Amino acid sequence: MAENAQAGSNTQAGSRQRILVVEDEPIIARAVTDRLTAEGFAVEITGDGPSAVERARSYEPDLIVLDVMLPGFDGLEVCRRVQSERSVPVLMLTARDDETDLLVGLGVGADDYITKPFSMRELVARVRTVLRRFERAERAEASAISDVLRLGPLEIDQKARRVRRDGHEVHLTPTEYDLLGCLVRHPGTVLTRALLLEQVWDWADASGTRAVDSHVKALRRKLGADLIRTVHGVGYSFEVSA
Ligand code: CA
Repeated sequence: MAENAQAGSNTQAGSRQRILVVEDEPIIARAVTDRLTAEGFAVEITGDGPSAVERARSYEPDLIVLDVMLPGFDGLEVCRRVQSERSVPVLMLTARDDETDLLVGLGVGADDYITKPFSMRELVARVRTVLRRFERAERAEASAISDVLRLGPLEIDQKARRVRRDGHEVHLTPTEYDLLGCLVRHPGTVLTRALLLEQVWDWADASGTRAVDSHVKALRRKLGADLIRTVHGVGYSFEVSA
């Protein structure tokens, strides 16, 4: 049962991390699967929307590599359905950069995006980064002293990773939540894109700052435009008026 998934999954130390690869192009699917297997992951593969949702339920992967264009229904719908049952990191495979922008803007719930064509080396690096980020967030959750943080109209339940604005629950993706967390820890302070990228995405170089902009845009859409201020040419700051 999906409801019981949180009890046993993800916590067996020493066992291989499980990755579900959802890709309908056999050559890419095979290449990704071979490489991830060689890197020590347990991998299952599926090639259409409905079976991806089904497999995510039964296999309980630690991460999903998810192509956007799929038979049945697309990766966005897969992501939505899977995330509504259980929080799992998703690395989305997109066909073009502008498709990535579109998806980030829609807030589909993916944690990272990689544009085709990509190198297997890049894919593995992204997979490891997303997994590390997710584990770190889970650890931080477990050790959170105060459960609920209140900042102006926002209420952040750090244990449950839930956010409310004016009493209404706001659905954030894991990455959006981490970004918000980073901003609210330094209220009124301008954080550069490079710093946010490093803290939230673990990226050492600043080449992916566009990801920061896109995720801020998504946060504003969900939380309201008044909480995060843009400092042009520098970055962002979290603003709460009393
Ligand atoms: Ca495809």
